[in-house]
Amino acid sequence: MAKVHELYEYDYKTGTIRLKNKKCPRCGSIMAHHLKPVERWHCGKCGYTEYRT
Ligand SMILES: [Zn+2]
Repeated sequence: MAKVHELYEYDYKTGTIRLKNKKCPRCGSIMAHHLKPVERWHCGKCGYTEYRT
């Protein structure tokens, strides 16, 4: 079982969590997880956004 800190990176400056194994389906970059204002995944490289329902 993997340790949490090996799977996640927390960015204190932006308040985002980066899940290391979550990749953008468009460009393959690591996506950032945002909780506010709505929970979503966002790719900072190509701008792809995936909303959680
Ligand atoms: Zn992307």
